[in-house]
Amino acid sequence: MTNIDKKAPVLVTGGSGYIASWIIKYLLEDGISVRTTVRNLRDLKKVEHLLELSKKFPGKLELFEADLIANGSFDQAVKGTELVIHTASPFFISGIKDAQKQLVEPALQGTRNVLESVNKADSVKRVVLTSSVASIYGDNIDAANVPGNKLTEEHWNTSSSLSHQPYPYSKTLAEKEAWEINKNQNRWDLLVINPSFVMGPSVSNRVDGTSVDFMLSMVNGKFKSGVPNTLIGFVDVRDVAKAHILAGFTPSAKGRHITSAQTLPMLGAAKILREKFGKKYPIPTGELPKFLVYLVGPFFGLSWANTSRNVGIPFDLDNSYSQKDLGLKYRPLSETFVEHIEQLEAAKLI
Ligand code: NDP
Repeated sequence: MTNIDKKAPVLVTGGSGYIASWIIKYLLEDGISVRTTVRNLRDLKKVEHLLELSKKFPGKLELFEADLIANGSFDQAVKGTELVIHTASPFFISGIKDAQKQLVEPALQGTRNVLESVNKADSVKRVVLTSSVASIYGDNIDAANVPGNKLTEEHWNTSSSLSHQPYPYSKTLAEKEAWEINKNQNRWDLLVINPSFVMGPSVSNRVDGTSVDFMLSMVNGKFKSGVPNTLIGFVDVRDVAKAHILAGFTPSAKGRHITSAQTLPMLGAAKILREKFGKKYPIPTGELPKFLVYLVGPFFGLSWANTSRNVGIPFDLDNSYSQKDLGLKYRPLSETFVEHIEQLEAAKLI
C-alpha cells in the first residue's frame, strides 16, 4: 500500500508530449501541483500549451529543463516529489537512421537518469513509467502460442532487436531496466502503464507524431487502394492519461497494465471513420492481399519481415487487469477516432 499525498507536487517528465500533456491537464484540474520537464524551455511550439495551462492554473505548474541523455538532468525536478510519472522517451517508427542513438540510448539512459534522481530524492514513494505494449510483444506472431492469441502482462517482447522493430526493442530494454533498478531498493514502488496505439485529440496544437501520422493516413488517400489485414490494439489518449493518474494514486495498485480499449483490423478503424464521414475522405474500403502487401509494403515502410510476422496473423491484448487493478473505464474507439479527425480538420490539416 502506497499513499501519495495529494498536496505534494507530482513530476511528469516530457511535458511537451501527446500523452504527458493530458496527464498534466487532468492533474491540474484535480487541484494537484505539477512539475514537468521539457528539453528546451524556449521552444515555444512545444511548450505553448503548458504556458497556457500555467496561466489557467496560477502557481500550480512548474516547468524545468531536462534531457534524457544528460546525467543528473532530472535531480532538481524530482526533489520533494512523492510521485514521479516518467513518460519521456522517443516515439517514432519510421525514418530511423541510427536506432541505437535515436531510440535505445535516450529510452534506456533516460530511464536510468530519471530513476537515479528518484534514488537520490528521499521524498519519492512511487514511480509510474509509460512503457508500451511494445514491451509485451514485437510482432503479432509473438501471440501465436498464447491461449486465444491473447497477450497478458505476463508476456515480454523477446523478438525485437536493433535491426528488427527497434522502437519496441527500446521500450523493452527501458522497462526491464526500470524493474531492475526498482528491485535494488525498497523505498519506492514501480507501476507500469503499457498502452497500445494511442489515438484521440491532443491538448496542444502540435500535429507531428506517430499517432497523428496514422490518423492522417486513414483519410488522406495513402491507403486508398486498401490496407494490410493487420490487427492493432488502440486506446484513447485520455484513458491512457487517466490510467497513469489512477496508477499514481491507487494505494493498492501494482505491476504492469496493458492499457488498450480494443484490438481492431486496420479496416475496422476505417469502417468507424466511414460511418461518420461517409465519402468526404478517401477512407480505405478494402484489404490488400498479403502478396500485394509484400510488393507495395516497402513503399509504406513495411519490410518483408514485418509483413510476414504481422499481416493476417491473429492477435489480441487482454485489458482486464487495467480495469480490475486501476478501475479504468475505456471509452469507445468511435469517439476516439472521430474526435481525433475533427481536431485535425479544425487545424486545417485535412
Ligand atoms: P510524443 O512524441 O508526443 O512524446 C515523447 C516525449 O518524450 C516528448 O515530450 C519528447 O520531447 C520527449 N523526449 C524524447 N526524447 C527526449 C530526450 N532526449 N530528452 C528529453 N525528452 C525527450 O509521444 P507520446 O506522448 O505518444 O509518447 C510518450 C510515451 O508514451 C513514450 O514513452 C512512448 O514510448 C509511450 N507510448 C506511446 C504510444 C502512442 O501510441 N503514442 C503507445 C505506447 C507507448 P520533445 O517534445 O522535446 O521531443
